[in-house]
Amino acid sequence: MNEATGERDSYINGEFITGPDRLGVTNPATGQDFTEISLADASMTESALAAARNAQPGWARHAPLERAAVMKRIADLIDANSETLAELIVREQGKPIAEARGETSGSAEFFRFFAEYARRIEGEILPSDHAGEQIWIQRVPIGVVAAIIPWNYPLALVARKVAPSMIAGNSIVLKSHENTPLSALAMARLFHHSGVPRGVVNIISGLGSVVGEAMCASDEVDLITMTGSVPTGKRIMRNAADRLTPVSLELGGKAPFIVMADADLDLAVRSAASSRYMNCGQVCICNERTFVERSVHDAFVARFIEVSKSLRIGDPMDESTDLGPKVSLAELEKVEKRVDAAVEAGAEILYGGGRTEGMKGGYYYNPTVIGGVTDAMSIMQDETFGPVIPIVPFDSFDDVVTSANNSRYGLSAYLFTNNLKQVMEAVNTVEFGELYINRIGPESLQGYHVGYRNSGPGGDDGTHGLETYLRKKTVYVNYSDGPTTGLMPYGKQDAGEAS
Ligand code: NAD
Repeated sequence: MNEATGERDSYINGEFITGPDRLGVTNPATGQDFTEISLADASMTESALAAARNAQPGWARHAPLERAAVMKRIADLIDANSETLAELIVREQGKPIAEARGETSGSAEFFRFFAEYARRIEGEILPSDHAGEQIWIQRVPIGVVAAIIPWNYPLALVARKVAPSMIAGNSIVLKSHENTPLSALAMARLFHHSGVPRGVVNIISGLGSVVGEAMCASDEVDLITMTGSVPTGKRIMRNAADRLTPVSLELGGKAPFIVMADADLDLAVRSAASSRYMNCGQVCICNERTFVERSVHDAFVARFIEVSKSLRIGDPMDESTDLGPKVSLAELEKVEKRVDAAVEAGAEILYGGGRTEGMKGGYYYNPTVIGGVTDAMSIMQDETFGPVIPIVPFDSFDDVVTSANNSRYGLSAYLFTNNLKQVMEAVNTVEFGELYINRIGPESLQGYHVGYRNSGPGGDDGTHGLETYLRKKTVYVNYSDGPTTGLMPYGKQDAGEAS
């Protein structure tokens, strides 16, 4: 493996296999390709799924503690290689190195957290209607998991999908995003060294239109778990419908960030800015729409602009950089179009706007504050996923809740207030899967990362996220000397006579 650029080939059945095509990997800070990987095709995808199918029963037969031991070794290896991994993330994805280090340590924690479930995946014993009968429900592996991830957390999202899959006793085939294949391949090398049996975890680099489609069309897949955009999520769900394959989708967000007049304004400003600018605004739970009660709106905007001015834009590998580039030219252009459309619709740029000059081909966009928007504008309805924030005044709590809920998305929402009554009102009326009061993300491992509406059916993390990777089996055991006797809900039943 090349230390600086990592593995190049897909990891299938315990081996790195060269695919038929090539793809350059671009450094978003320079716009230059710095390495090349091989791309898998549909037949390699089938091989990976067959390997996963073959390996799964053996992995499931391991005692959960044995599976957990492998997972703890993975966590230790991530920690031991943390600086190399963090630099790889920066090189292919562009987030500042300090954030990449957080992603790396968080990835190790996914494995430690889910390893703890070795003793916690429990069943239920049910009272029987019959003498001499025992009934129980147990949680069993779902089988072969197909995981598809985006580019914004190219290491952590591997951990988020692979760790619960492993402790559940599943095997998995994971496809990384075309823009960011290296982090996932580096993880493959760590899986290899930590003693993951062949075929239990497979990592494929490939196009969504080839490998992603092949995964969703395969009879070998028992669960599709995908994090990404709404259009791709819809396509995956349609494809999965042909085989009735269960699908868990973690899609986009358009988080409202509500600031009441009684809030700690400094905390609210700093939190709103961090939640907008982290990872260059490319997080599904990012503050995408800020609503500020009218009496403090102007003060809030002034302070927000001060914070925006103070951000150091630069090389994400530089320790002092706060804001790096967008991940790709296509993503940069998307943000530009979103801002242009807002201005055309009558919005006003209060600060920033436009590409950052002097960045030598890197995909940089200026931190940007927008005023004069209405709920109907695209900047308020469509995910921006960049360092651009519309800030809107509001007059009453009821009005702001109506505006916040006026969204196709329903992932995260923020409320800054010291009024307990309003907190509880928000809990009852703000229709989002995650509600943060007087704090911002990231979400916690033990929580449940879940969205409503177009943010997708499905969820990750914690006990409820793990449920996605398990299915249930009901077992009836007659240990009496004769047939089951007693009341049957569907009528009388004798031995051998099915109801
Ligand atoms: P995307 O939908 O373009 O790509 C996601 C993945 O889907 C990629 O691996 C891609 O190759 C694959 N894909 C594309 N076409 C496919 C097809 N036909 N069949 C199967 N797979 C296919 O999304 P993106 O631009 O990489 O990611 C950004 C989006 O991800 C944003 O909307 C963001 O909000 C969302 N996101 C959501 C969460 C969450 O937890 N809810 C977390 C991170 C990112």
